[in-house]
Amino acid sequence: MHYTYLVIGGGMTADAAVHGIREIDPDGPIGVIGQEPHPPYNRPPLSKKLWQGKPFESIWREAETRGVELHLGRKAQSLDLQSRRVTDDYGDEYTFDRLLLATGGAPRRLPYSDDRLIHFRTLDDYLMLRKLTEKFMRFAVIGGGFIGSEVAAALAMNGKDVVMVFPEGGIGARLFPRDLSQFLNEFYRQKGVEVLTGMSVTDLDERGERLVVKAGSGREIIADGIVAGIGIVPNVDLARQSGLTVENGIVVDEFLRAGHPDIYAAGDVAAFYNPALGKRIRVEHEDNANTMGKQAGRNMAGAAEPYHHLPYFYSDLFELGYEAVGDTDARLETVADWKEPYREGVVYYLENGRVRGVLLWNIWEQVDAARSLIAEPGPFRPEDLKGRLPA
Ligand code: NAP
Repeated sequence: MHYTYLVIGGGMTADAAVHGIREIDPDGPIGVIGQEPHPPYNRPPLSKKLWQGKPFESIWREAETRGVELHLGRKAQSLDLQSRRVTDDYGDEYTFDRLLLATGGAPRRLPYSDDRLIHFRTLDDYLMLRKLTEKFMRFAVIGGGFIGSEVAAALAMNGKDVVMVFPEGGIGARLFPRDLSQFLNEFYRQKGVEVLTGMSVTDLDERGERLVVKAGSGREIIADGIVAGIGIVPNVDLARQSGLTVENGIVVDEFLRAGHPDIYAAGDVAAFYNPALGKRIRVEHEDNANTMGKQAGRNMAGAAEPYHHLPYFYSDLFELGYEAVGDTDARLETVADWKEPYREGVVYYLENGRVRGVLLWNIWEQVDAARSLIAEPGPFRPEDLKGRLPA
Protein backbone atom coordinates (compact mmCIF):
# COMPACT_ATOMS: atom_id res chain seq x y z
CA MET A 1 0.00 0.00 0.00
CA HIS A 2 1.27 3.45 -0.83
CA TYR A 3 0.04 6.64 0.83
CA THR A 4 0.93 10.26 0.30
CA TYR A 5 0.50 10.59 4.06
CA LEU A 6 1.03 7.75 6.49
CA VAL A 7 0.18 8.28 10.16
CA ILE A 8 1.38 5.87 12.82
CA GLY A 9 -0.90 5.98 15.83
CA GLY A 10 -4.68 6.01 16.01
CA GLY A 11 -5.28 8.45 18.85
CA MET A 12 -6.31 12.09 19.20
CA THR A 13 -3.07 13.41 17.70
CA ALA A 14 -3.42 11.16 14.65
CA ASP A 15 -7.03 12.18 14.11
CA ALA A 16 -6.19 15.87 14.47
CA ALA A 17 -3.38 15.40 11.93
CA VAL A 18 -5.74 13.83 9.39
CA HIS A 19 -8.03 16.85 9.73
CA GLY A 20 -5.00 19.13 9.40
CA ILE A 21 -3.90 17.42 6.20
CA ARG A 22 -7.39 17.74 4.73
CA GLU A 23 -7.48 21.49 5.46
CA ILE A 24 -4.70 21.85 2.90
CA ASP A 25 -4.88 18.82 0.64
CA PRO A 26 -8.42 17.65 -0.15
CA ASP A 27 -7.55 14.31 -1.68
CA GLY A 28 -4.00 12.99 -1.11
CA PRO A 29 -4.41 9.37 0.12
CA ILE A 30 -3.97 8.98 3.89
CA GLY A 31 -3.24 5.75 5.76
CA VAL A 32 -3.52 5.43 9.55
CA ILE A 33 -2.05 2.49 11.48
CA GLY A 34 -3.49 2.19 15.00
CA GLN A 35 -2.78 -0.42 17.64
CA GLU A 36 -6.12 -0.18 19.40
CA PRO A 37 -9.10 -1.85 17.69
CA HIS A 38 -11.22 1.33 17.94
CA PRO A 39 -11.39 4.34 15.65
CA PRO A 40 -10.06 7.58 17.18
CA TYR A 41 -11.85 8.66 20.36
CA ASN A 42 -11.43 11.36 22.98
CA ARG A 43 -9.46 10.04 25.92
CA PRO A 44 -10.24 12.67 28.65
CA PRO A 45 -13.88 11.51 29.23
CA LEU A 46 -12.66 8.00 30.15
CA SER A 47 -11.56 9.25 33.56
CA LYS A 48 -13.97 12.21 33.88
CA LYS A 49 -17.29 12.85 32.14
CA LEU A 50 -18.25 9.25 31.33
CA TRP A 51 -18.50 8.75 35.10
CA GLN A 52 -20.72 11.79 35.46
CA GLY A 53 -23.51 10.75 33.13
CA LYS A 54 -22.11 11.82 29.76
CA PRO A 55 -23.25 9.32 27.11
CA PHE A 56 -20.71 6.79 25.95
CA GLU A 57 -21.19 7.72 22.27
CA SER A 58 -19.87 11.22 23.00
CA ILE A 59 -16.29 9.94 23.02
CA TRP A 60 -16.14 9.32 19.25
CA ARG A 61 -14.39 11.94 17.20
CA GLU A 62 -15.83 13.24 13.98
CA ALA A 63 -13.80 11.08 11.65
CA GLU A 64 -12.51 12.44 8.35
CA THR A 65 -13.23 9.71 5.83
CA ARG A 66 -12.34 11.31 2.48
CA GLY A 67 -9.49 9.22 1.14
CA VAL A 68 -8.57 7.88 4.59
CA GLU A 69 -7.87 4.19 5.28
CA LEU A 70 -7.68 3.02 8.89
CA HIS A 71 -5.58 -0.06 9.66
CA LEU A 72 -6.71 -0.80 13.21
CA GLY A 73 -5.51 -3.45 15.64
CA ARG A 74 -2.08 -3.34 14.06
CA LYS A 75 1.28 -2.33 15.41
CA ALA A 76 3.89 -0.69 13.18
CA GLN A 77 7.00 -2.73 13.85
CA SER A 78 9.70 -1.35 11.67
CA LEU A 79 10.44 1.86 9.84
CA ASP A 80 12.98 2.12 7.06
CA LEU A 81 13.67 5.74 6.17
CA GLN A 82 15.70 4.89 3.08
CA SER A 83 12.93 3.01 1.31
CA ARG A 84 10.16 4.97 3.14
CA ARG A 85 8.59 1.75 4.26
CA VAL A 86 6.72 0.69 7.40
CA THR A 87 6.01 -2.96 8.25
CA ASP A 88 3.31 -3.95 10.73
CA ASP A 89 2.99 -6.95 13.04
CA TYR A 90 1.02 -8.87 10.38
CA GLY A 91 3.94 -8.43 7.97
CA ASP A 92 2.00 -5.95 5.80
CA GLU A 93 4.00 -3.15 4.24
CA TYR A 94 3.13 0.48 3.70
CA THR A 95 5.13 3.05 1.76
CA PHE A 96 4.72 6.81 2.06
CA ASP A 97 5.78 10.22 0.85
CA ARG A 98 5.33 11.84 4.30
CA LEU A 99 5.10 10.10 7.64
CA LEU A 100 3.78 11.21 11.04
CA LEU A 101 4.82 9.44 14.22
CA ALA A 102 1.91 9.96 16.62
CA THR A 103 2.70 6.91 18.69
CA GLY A 104 1.86 8.39 22.12
CA GLY A 105 2.93 6.59 25.26
CA ALA A 106 2.41 3.30 27.03
CA PRO A 107 1.46 3.11 30.71
CA ARG A 108 4.26 2.36 33.10
CA ARG A 109 3.42 -1.02 34.58
CA LEU A 110 3.68 -2.55 38.01
CA PRO A 111 5.54 -5.88 37.97
CA TYR A 112 2.32 -7.85 38.64
CA SER A 113 -0.44 -9.05 36.42
CA ASP A 114 -4.05 -9.86 37.16
CA ASP A 115 -7.27 -9.43 35.15
CA ARG A 116 -8.49 -7.04 37.81
CA LEU A 117 -5.37 -4.84 37.77
CA ILE A 118 -5.92 -2.12 35.14
CA HIS A 119 -3.08 0.14 34.00
CA PHE A 120 -5.64 2.72 32.96
CA ARG A 121 -5.21 4.45 29.63
CA THR A 122 -7.39 3.14 26.80
CA LEU A 123 -11.04 2.71 25.97
CA ASP A 124 -10.72 -1.02 26.66
CA ASP A 125 -9.33 -0.17 30.11
CA TYR A 126 -12.38 2.02 30.73
CA LEU A 127 -14.74 -0.76 29.60
CA MET A 128 -12.98 -3.24 31.86
CA LEU A 129 -13.23 -0.89 34.86
CA ARG A 130 -16.94 -0.29 34.13
CA LYS A 131 -17.47 -4.03 34.13
CA LEU A 132 -15.72 -4.40 37.47
CA THR A 133 -17.82 -1.61 38.97
CA GLU A 134 -20.99 -3.46 37.98
CA LYS A 135 -19.89 -6.39 40.14
CA PHE A 136 -17.70 -5.02 42.92
CA MET A 137 -17.64 -2.26 45.52
CA ARG A 138 -14.07 -1.89 46.70
CA PHE A 139 -11.27 -0.44 44.57
CA ALA A 140 -7.66 0.45 45.13
CA VAL A 141 -6.19 3.28 43.08
CA ILE A 142 -2.42 3.34 42.80
CA GLY A 143 -0.86 6.70 41.91
CA GLY A 144 -1.72 10.26 42.93
CA GLY A 145 -1.23 11.96 39.54
CA PHE A 146 -3.79 12.73 36.83
CA ILE A 147 -5.24 9.25 36.40
CA GLY A 148 -5.17 8.42 40.12
CA SER A 149 -6.91 11.63 41.22
CA GLU A 150 -9.52 11.58 38.45
CA VAL A 151 -10.37 7.86 38.62
CA ALA A 152 -10.54 7.88 42.44
CA ALA A 153 -13.01 10.80 42.28
CA ALA A 154 -14.98 9.11 39.48
CA LEU A 155 -15.31 5.85 41.41
CA ALA A 156 -16.23 7.60 44.67
CA MET A 157 -18.88 9.67 42.87
CA ASN A 158 -20.32 6.36 41.66
CA GLY A 159 -20.71 5.11 45.22
CA LYS A 160 -17.60 2.92 45.33
CA ASP A 161 -15.34 2.35 48.27
CA VAL A 162 -11.96 3.75 47.22
CA VAL A 163 -8.47 3.59 48.70
CA MET A 164 -5.73 5.67 47.09
CA VAL A 165 -2.08 4.83 47.62
CA PHE A 166 0.92 6.71 46.26
CA PRO A 167 4.50 7.54 47.19
CA GLU A 168 4.21 11.33 47.46
CA GLY A 169 2.93 13.32 50.41
CA GLY A 170 -0.21 14.54 48.67
CA ILE A 171 -2.54 14.30 45.70
CA GLY A 172 -1.04 16.03 42.66
CA ALA A 173 2.12 16.76 44.64
CA ARG A 174 4.25 17.22 41.54
CA LEU A 175 1.97 19.98 40.38
CA PHE A 176 0.37 21.77 43.29
CA PRO A 177 1.97 23.80 46.09
CA ARG A 178 2.28 21.70 49.23
CA ASP A 179 -0.63 23.30 51.09
CA LEU A 180 -3.02 22.79 48.16
CA SER A 181 -1.94 19.18 47.78
CA GLN A 182 -2.48 18.63 51.54
CA PHE A 183 -5.89 20.25 51.26
CA LEU A 184 -6.75 17.77 48.48
CA ASN A 185 -5.86 14.83 50.73
CA GLU A 186 -8.39 16.08 53.29
CA PHE A 187 -10.93 17.00 50.62
CA TYR A 188 -10.79 13.44 49.20
CA ARG A 189 -11.05 11.98 52.71
CA GLN A 190 -14.20 14.03 53.32
CA LYS A 191 -15.59 12.52 50.14
CA GLY A 192 -15.06 9.07 51.65
CA VAL A 193 -11.82 8.16 49.87
CA GLU A 194 -9.13 6.59 52.02
CA VAL A 195 -5.90 8.39 51.11
CA LEU A 196 -2.62 6.63 51.95
CA THR A 197 0.32 8.91 51.27
CA GLY A 198 4.05 8.18 51.25
CA MET A 199 3.57 4.50 50.38
CA SER A 200 4.83 2.49 47.44
CA VAL A 201 3.27 -0.78 46.43
CA THR A 202 5.51 -3.73 47.30
CA ASP A 203 3.38 -6.74 46.30
CA LEU A 204 0.08 -7.90 44.92
CA ASP A 205 -1.59 -11.13 46.01
CA GLU A 206 -4.87 -12.97 45.82
CA ARG A 207 -6.77 -13.92 48.95
CA GLY A 208 -9.77 -16.08 48.17
CA GLU A 209 -11.77 -14.14 45.58
CA ARG A 210 -10.20 -10.83 46.52
CA LEU A 211 -6.95 -9.00 45.82
CA VAL A 212 -4.47 -7.74 48.37
CA VAL A 213 -2.24 -4.78 47.61
CA LYS A 214 0.74 -4.68 49.92
CA ALA A 215 2.20 -1.25 50.46
CA GLY A 216 5.26 0.04 52.30
CA SER A 217 5.35 -0.47 56.09
CA GLY A 218 3.37 -3.71 55.84
CA ARG A 219 0.02 -2.10 55.06
CA GLU A 220 -2.46 -4.40 53.29
CA ILE A 221 -5.29 -3.08 51.15
CA ILE A 222 -8.06 -5.51 50.27
CA ALA A 223 -9.81 -4.71 47.00
CA ASP A 224 -11.82 -6.31 44.20
CA GLY A 225 -10.37 -4.15 41.45
CA ILE A 226 -7.19 -2.09 41.12
CA VAL A 227 -6.49 0.90 38.91
CA ALA A 228 -2.88 1.95 38.42
CA GLY A 229 -1.96 5.37 37.01
CA ILE A 230 1.78 5.57 37.50
CA GLY A 231 2.80 7.53 34.44
CA ILE A 232 3.51 6.76 30.80
CA VAL A 233 6.62 6.06 28.77
CA PRO A 234 6.70 7.62 25.29
CA ASN A 235 6.64 5.07 22.45
CA VAL A 236 9.91 5.98 20.76
CA ASP A 237 11.07 2.54 19.56
CA LEU A 238 10.34 3.08 15.86
CA ALA A 239 12.02 6.48 15.88
CA ARG A 240 15.06 5.20 17.74
CA GLN A 241 15.38 2.10 15.60
CA SER A 242 15.27 4.16 12.40
CA GLY A 243 18.00 6.50 13.63
CA LEU A 244 15.91 9.60 14.43
CA THR A 245 17.03 11.70 17.39
CA VAL A 246 15.33 10.69 20.63
CA GLU A 247 15.93 12.43 23.93
CA ASN A 248 12.98 12.78 26.28
CA GLY A 249 10.75 11.90 23.29
CA ILE A 250 11.28 12.32 19.54
CA VAL A 251 13.06 15.61 18.94
CA VAL A 252 11.22 17.83 16.44
CA ASP A 253 11.94 21.26 14.98
CA GLU A 254 9.42 24.13 15.01
CA PHE A 255 7.73 22.71 11.90
CA LEU A 256 7.41 19.37 13.75
CA ARG A 257 9.89 17.55 11.51
CA ALA A 258 11.83 14.83 13.28
CA GLY A 259 15.24 15.61 11.80
CA HIS A 260 14.18 14.43 8.32
CA PRO A 261 12.32 16.56 5.76
CA ASP A 262 9.44 14.09 5.36
CA ILE A 263 9.14 12.58 8.86
CA TYR A 264 7.09 14.39 11.48
CA ALA A 265 6.21 13.65 15.10
CA ALA A 266 3.50 15.13 17.34
CA GLY A 267 1.56 14.60 20.56
CA ASP A 268 2.71 12.84 23.75
CA VAL A 269 5.74 11.38 21.97
CA ALA A 270 7.25 14.58 20.57
CA ALA A 271 9.70 16.93 22.29
CA PHE A 272 9.38 20.47 20.89
CA TYR A 273 10.91 23.85 21.63
CA ASN A 274 8.52 26.37 23.15
CA PRO A 275 9.68 29.98 22.70
CA ALA A 276 7.73 31.43 25.67
CA LEU A 277 9.32 28.95 28.07
CA GLY A 278 12.64 29.06 26.21
CA LYS A 279 13.11 25.32 26.40
CA ARG A 280 12.23 21.99 24.85
CA ILE A 281 9.19 20.31 26.39
CA ARG A 282 7.09 17.19 25.93
CA VAL A 283 3.43 17.49 26.86
CA GLU A 284 1.04 14.63 27.64
CA HIS A 285 -2.32 16.43 27.47
CA GLU A 286 -5.31 16.81 25.18
CA ASP A 287 -4.79 20.39 23.94
CA ASN A 288 -1.28 19.52 22.80
CA ALA A 289 -2.50 16.36 21.06
CA ASN A 290 -5.16 18.29 19.17
CA THR A 291 -3.25 21.46 18.34
CA MET A 292 0.13 19.89 17.60
CA GLY A 293 -1.48 17.02 15.67
CA LYS A 294 -3.38 19.43 13.47
CA GLN A 295 -0.29 21.57 12.87
CA ALA A 296 1.76 18.52 11.94
CA GLY A 297 -0.93 17.51 9.45
CA ARG A 298 -1.03 20.97 7.90
CA ASN A 299 2.76 21.06 7.60
CA MET A 300 2.89 17.58 6.09
CA ALA A 301 0.55 18.93 3.39
CA GLY A 302 2.84 21.90 2.76
CA ALA A 303 1.74 24.69 5.15
CA ALA A 304 5.19 25.36 6.75
CA GLU A 305 3.77 27.04 9.90
CA PRO A 306 5.78 26.96 13.14
CA TYR A 307 4.26 25.37 16.26
CA HIS A 308 4.69 27.92 19.03
CA HIS A 309 1.56 27.04 20.97
CA LEU A 310 1.84 26.75 24.75
CA PRO A 311 -0.66 23.99 25.56
CA TYR A 312 -3.00 24.11 28.52
CA PHE A 313 -4.46 21.23 30.50
CA TYR A 314 -7.39 20.77 32.84
CA SER A 315 -8.87 18.36 35.32
CA ASP A 316 -12.02 17.67 37.34
CA LEU A 317 -11.70 16.53 40.97
CA PHE A 318 -15.22 16.07 42.32
CA GLU A 319 -16.79 19.54 42.16
CA LEU A 320 -13.40 21.24 41.91
CA GLY A 321 -11.82 21.91 38.57
CA TYR A 322 -8.91 23.78 37.10
CA GLU A 323 -7.10 24.84 33.96
CA ALA A 324 -3.35 25.27 33.89
CA VAL A 325 -0.77 26.41 31.40
CA GLY A 326 3.01 26.44 31.15
CA ASP A 327 5.47 24.90 33.55
CA THR A 328 3.47 24.08 36.69
CA ASP A 329 6.16 22.25 38.58
CA ALA A 330 5.63 22.33 42.35
CA ARG A 331 9.39 22.69 42.82
CA LEU A 332 9.29 26.23 41.39
CA GLU A 333 8.56 29.23 43.61
CA THR A 334 4.77 29.52 43.87
CA VAL A 335 2.63 32.55 44.64
CA ALA A 336 -1.00 31.84 45.50
CA ASP A 337 -3.70 34.48 45.11
CA TRP A 338 -6.82 32.96 46.64
CA LYS A 339 -10.23 34.54 46.38
CA GLU A 340 -11.41 31.71 48.63
CA PRO A 341 -8.63 29.45 49.96
CA TYR A 342 -8.33 26.23 47.94
CA ARG A 343 -11.73 26.82 46.32
CA GLU A 344 -11.08 29.64 43.90
CA GLY A 345 -7.89 31.42 42.99
CA VAL A 346 -4.73 31.62 40.92
CA VAL A 347 -1.31 30.10 41.58
CA TYR A 348 1.69 31.58 39.75
CA TYR A 349 4.88 29.55 39.24
CA LEU A 350 7.98 31.74 39.19
CA GLU A 351 11.57 31.13 38.14
CA ASN A 352 14.26 33.82 38.07
CA GLY A 353 11.65 36.56 38.10
CA ARG A 354 9.60 35.17 35.21
CA VAL A 355 6.20 33.53 35.35
CA ARG A 356 6.69 30.01 33.99
CA GLY A 357 3.25 28.58 34.72
CA VAL A 358 -0.21 29.51 35.95
CA LEU A 359 -2.80 27.35 37.71
CA LEU A 360 -6.36 28.64 37.41
CA TRP A 361 -8.26 26.94 40.23
CA ASN A 362 -11.98 27.14 39.53
CA ILE A 363 -11.20 30.20 37.45
CA TRP A 364 -12.23 30.04 33.81
CA GLU A 365 -11.47 31.77 30.53
CA GLN A 366 -8.12 33.14 31.67
CA VAL A 367 -5.84 30.73 29.82
CA ASP A 368 -4.91 33.24 27.09
CA ALA A 369 -4.21 35.96 29.67
CA ALA A 370 -2.01 33.45 31.52
CA ARG A 371 -0.15 32.65 28.30
CA SER A 372 0.55 36.37 27.73
CA LEU A 373 1.90 36.68 31.26
CA ILE A 374 4.21 33.72 30.70
CA ALA A 375 5.53 35.37 27.53
CA GLU A 376 6.33 38.64 29.38
CA PRO A 377 10.00 39.11 30.24
CA GLY A 378 9.34 40.47 33.77
CA PRO A 379 11.08 40.53 36.13
CA PHE A 380 8.17 39.91 38.52
CA ARG A 381 8.28 39.91 42.27
CA PRO A 382 5.70 37.80 44.13
CA GLU A 383 3.86 40.94 45.27
CA ASP A 384 3.52 42.11 41.63
CA LEU A 385 1.41 39.07 40.83
CA LYS A 386 -1.40 39.42 43.36
CA GLY A 387 -4.48 40.46 41.40
CA ARG A 388 -2.62 40.21 38.10
CA LEU A 389 -5.23 37.77 36.73
CA PRO A 390 -8.76 38.13 38.10
CA ALA A 391 -9.01 35.66 40.99
P1 NAP B 1 1.20 11.01 36.32
O1 NAP B 1 0.26 12.15 36.38
O2 NAP B 1 2.60 11.20 35.92
O3 NAP B 1 1.16 10.38 37.80
C1 NAP B 1 1.89 9.24 38.16
C2 NAP B 1 1.71 9.00 39.64
O4 NAP B 1 2.08 7.67 39.98
C3 NAP B 1 2.52 9.89 40.55
O5 NAP B 1 1.76 10.13 41.71
C4 NAP B 1 3.73 9.01 40.84
O6 NAP B 1 4.48 9.32 41.97
C5 NAP B 1 3.01 7.71 41.05
N1 NAP B 1 3.87 6.53 40.97
C6 NAP B 1 4.93 6.32 40.17
N2 NAP B 1 5.42 5.08 40.38
C7 NAP B 1 4.64 4.50 41.33
C8 NAP B 1 4.62 3.24 41.96
N3 NAP B 1 5.51 2.30 41.65
N4 NAP B 1 3.66 3.00 42.90
C9 NAP B 1 2.72 3.94 43.19
N5 NAP B 1 2.70 5.15 42.61
C10 NAP B 1 3.63 5.42 41.69
O7 NAP B 1 0.65 9.85 35.35
P2 NAP B 1 -0.80 9.19 35.22
O8 NAP B 1 -1.71 9.69 36.26
O9 NAP B 1 -0.54 7.73 35.12
O10 NAP B 1 -1.31 9.71 33.82
C11 NAP B 1 -0.80 9.13 32.62
C12 NAP B 1 -0.78 10.14 31.52
O11 NAP B 1 -2.07 10.54 31.13
C13 NAP B 1 -0.03 11.38 31.87
O12 NAP B 1 0.70 11.68 30.75
C14 NAP B 1 -1.09 12.41 32.08
O13 NAP B 1 -0.63 13.70 31.75
C15 NAP B 1 -2.17 11.94 31.16
N6 NAP B 1 -3.48 12.32 31.70
C16 NAP B 1 -3.81 13.64 31.68
C17 NAP B 1 -5.00 14.05 32.23
C18 NAP B 1 -5.37 15.49 32.20
O14 NAP B 1 -4.74 16.25 31.48
N7 NAP B 1 -6.35 15.89 32.98
C19 NAP B 1 -5.85 13.12 32.80
C20 NAP B 1 -5.48 11.78 32.81
C21 NAP B 1 -4.28 11.40 32.27
P3 NAP B 1 5.94 10.05 41.78
O15 NAP B 1 5.59 11.41 41.33
O16 NAP B 1 6.52 10.00 43.14
O17 NAP B 1 6.70 9.27 40.75
